[in-house]
Amino acid sequence: MLTLETKIENVPNIGAIYQKKLKKLGIKTVWDLLFYFPARYEDFSNIITINKITAGDTVCVQGRVLYVESTTSFKKGISITEAEIEDDTGTVKAMWFNQPFIARSLKEDDFVCLAGKATAGKVASVNNYDGPRQDLYLNNPVFEKLSEIEENNNLTHTGRIIPVYSETRGLTSKWLRYIIKPLLEYFFDKIPEILPEEILAKHKFLPIKEAIWQIHFPDSFEAIDASKARFSFENLFLLQLNILQQRAKLMQKTSPNCPMDADLMKKFTESLPFQLTDSQRQCAFTILKDLEKSAPMSRLLEGDVGSGKTVVATMATLSAIKNGYQVAFMAPTEILASQHFKGIIKMLENFDVKIGYLTGKESFIYKNGKIEEIKKKNLLLDLEFGQIDLLIGTHALISKGVTFSKLALVALDEQHRFGVNQRAELTKNKTLIPHLLSMTATPIPRTLALTVYGDLDLSLIKEMPKNRKKIKTIIVDPKERKSAYDFIHKEVKNGRGVFVICPKIGEDENEKNQAPIAGSFTPQNYQIGLLGVTEIKTVKQEYEKLSKDIFPDLRVTMLYGKMKTEEKQRVMLDFKKGEIDILVSTSVVEVGVDVPRATVMMIEGAERFGLAQLHQFRGRVGRSDMQSYCFLFTTDPSQLNRKRLKALVDCDNGFELAQKDLEIRGPGQLYGAVQSGLPDVAMEGMSNIFLVEKTRASAKELLEKDVNLLQYPLLKERLKEFKQKIHFE
Ligand code: ADP
Ligand code: MG
Repeated sequence: MLTLETKIENVPNIGAIYQKKLKKLGIKTVWDLLFYFPARYEDFSNIITINKITAGDTVCVQGRVLYVESTTSFKKGISITEAEIEDDTGTVKAMWFNQPFIARSLKEDDFVCLAGKATAGKVASVNNYDGPRQDLYLNNPVFEKLSEIEENNNLTHTGRIIPVYSETRGLTSKWLRYIIKPLLEYFFDKIPEILPEEILAKHKFLPIKEAIWQIHFPDSFEAIDASKARFSFENLFLLQLNILQQRAKLMQKTSPNCPMDADLMKKFTESLPFQLTDSQRQCAFTILKDLEKSAPMSRLLEGDVGSGKTVVATMATLSAIKNGYQVAFMAPTEILASQHFKGIIKMLENFDVKIGYLTGKESFIYKNGKIEEIKKKNLLLDLEFGQIDLLIGTHALISKGVTFSKLALVALDEQHRFGVNQRAELTKNKTLIPHLLSMTATPIPRTLALTVYGDLDLSLIKEMPKNRKKIKTIIVDPKERKSAYDFIHKEVKNGRGVFVICPKIGEDENEKNQAPIAGSFTPQNYQIGLLGVTEIKTVKQEYEKLSKDIFPDLRVTMLYGKMKTEEKQRVMLDFKKGEIDILVSTSVVEVGVDVPRATVMMIEGAERFGLAQLHQFRGRVGRSDMQSYCFLFTTDPSQLNRKRLKALVDCDNGFELAQKDLEIRGPGQLYGAVQSGLPDVAMEGMSNIFLVEKTRASAKELLEKDVNLLQYPLLKERLKEFKQKIHFE
C-alpha cells in the first residue's frame, strides 16, 4: 500500500535512474514529490481548430496523425522529427528537433493533442507533402496521446494550464507530470490538513487537498494564486510558530535579575568624554530595564556604524557586574576583541572591575589598573571561581573548558542570529539563563525583523553622535588620481590618518574565489572576505607603490588577514596613536575598527565590494568632529556599478542604502543568503509585510491558547519536520 511516507523506490514507474535524480533534488518520499511545486506554468488551455492557428501564438490543437518521419542531418548533427496532424478544418505540421524518440511513440492514425508555439515559416518538408497550412508549423510542441477526441479529455500535458517544474538534472516536466498526477489522484483525500479549521475559515484558504491539486494542475490562474497564498501562509505560519514557541518557552526560564542603579549609571555617563545621544540613552534604558526582569532578555541593538553601540553595551555590562554577576562579551575577530578589551577597560577604569581577555592564542587579565599576560589555565580558573567579572574575546569564549560561575549577560558584537545558539552553548548545565544582547550595524528591514530575527526584541540607535560631520563621498575619475593623492598628503601633514582598501592581497592563490561579489545587506557580508581576481590591485603592490613612488616621505604600512595577530594589533595601535600615516589594508578593517584620527577612506576597486561593505568601510572614518572623506576608485564603467556607487555618494544612512540596494539588486539577493531550507512560496511571502504580520498574529493567537500545540497534533508533527529542514545563519 502506498502512503505519503512511501519511499520513491517503492513508487510504481520510477526507475533507478530517476530515483537517483529525484534524490538529488531532495525528493525521497511520495510526500516530497507532491510538495515539489512547479516553478511556472504554461497556458495550453485554449484548444482551437487548426484553421484558427495564428503564427506567434501558443496554441493547443487536437487531431489525427497523418504521418511521422525522422531524419538526421549529418552535416548539422541534429535530428528532425516531423509530423502532420489533421482535424476537421485542416492540417498542420509539427517539427521536433533532437527528439528522435518521438517518432517511436507517435504513429500514423494516433489521436494527439499538441501544444506549443506556432512559428511562421515554410517547412522544408521531409516527404514534400504539401498541406494547406504550410505558412507555419508547431515548433517543438508538447504532445499527449489521446484514446479518442472528445470534449472533456482528462489531459495532463496539454489542453490546460500545465505545470512546468525546474528541469534540473535531466528530469523533464513531462515526466514529473506523468508521475505526480496519478499520485495526486490516489492521495487526493489522504493529505492531512495541518492548518487549524478556524484559520482556514478566517482567511478563506483552500483546504490542503484542493490547494495541492490546484498548484500542480490548476483550473485557472486564480486557482494558482489561491493555492500559493495558502502555501505561503502555511510556511510562514510554521516559521512564526517555530520562532514564537521557542521564545515563549525561553520566557518561562529564569535569568539573573539585575536591578538598575541609577546613581551608578549617572556616574558612568558623567565619566565619559562625550554626552550620550538621546537614542543611546533610550536604548540603554530599555536594556537596563530588561536586565531587571527575571525573564531572559533577547535583544538586538541595531545602529549604523559609528552610532556608539559599544558604550550602550558597556552600561549593561556594568549593571550586571555591580549586581554581582559575570558578563561575556564576544566579537567576531581578534582585532575587534582586542579593541573592545582596551576600549572597555578605559570606560570602566574607575569602576573596579576585573576583565579577562581570551582568544584562541592569547589570554590577558586586567585588574588593579594593569593589563597582564596570564596563562590561559589560570584565567579559566579565575573565571570559574568568579574572580573575573567580564570576559572579552572571540569564539574562544565558547570553547571547551570555559566555565562562568555566575553569568548574567552575553553581549555579542556583529554576530547576529549566531548568538542565539551560542547562548545555549554558554548556558548548558546552568539553571539561570543569561540575558542576551546582540549588536549589529546591519539594517534589518521590517519583514526580516519579524521573521528571521522574529524572536529578538529590537532597539534602534537612530542618531549619530552630534559632533559628526557628514562624510564627503567622491567617485574619483582616474584623471583625478593625482589630486586625490595631493589631498591625502595634505591631510596627513595635518596629522590625520588615511585608510587605503584593496580588494586582494599578494598573489596568494588561496584567497581566490573566497566569496561572490559581496553585495547585499546580509549579515554574512559583513564578514565576507575578498574577491580573487588576478589583475585587481593587491595590497602588496599598492603598498610598494604608495610607500616608494607616491608618498616616500610618509609612514605607510600594510595590514592583511594572514598577518600574525600580535602584528595586526601592533599596526592598529600604531595607526591609532598616529605613528602610521597611511594604512594599506584588505577588508580586515571592515567591521567595527575605531580610529578617530582617520579622516580619509580610499577604496580601490570599489566595484568589487557590495554597498553594505562600502558603507562599512566608509564608517571607519568620520568618527570624530573632523571632516572626513571617502574616495572611491573604480574601473568598472557599467551602469549598475555607477548606480551603486552613486547611491553611496548620495546617501549616508545605512538603512536607506539597504533599501536602495534592495531596489538595485532585487529581493532574492537580500533574503537568499540569510535563509536556507525555506520553499520558494515562503521566500516570496517573506517580502510581503502584510502576509508576515498576518502569519505572526495567527501564530501568536494559537500559541496563547495552546503553547505546546497539544490540540493540534498534525501541526505539531509538521512543525517538528519544519524545524529540521530550515536553518537560519
Ligand atoms: P559602533 O556602533 O559602530 O560599534 P562604536 O561603539 O565603536 O560604534 O563608537 C564609535 C566611536 O564613537 C567611538 O570612538 C566612541 O567612543 C564614540 N562615541 C560613542 N558614543 C558617542 C557620543 N554620544 N558622542 C561622541 N562620540 C561617541
Ligand atoms: Mg561596533
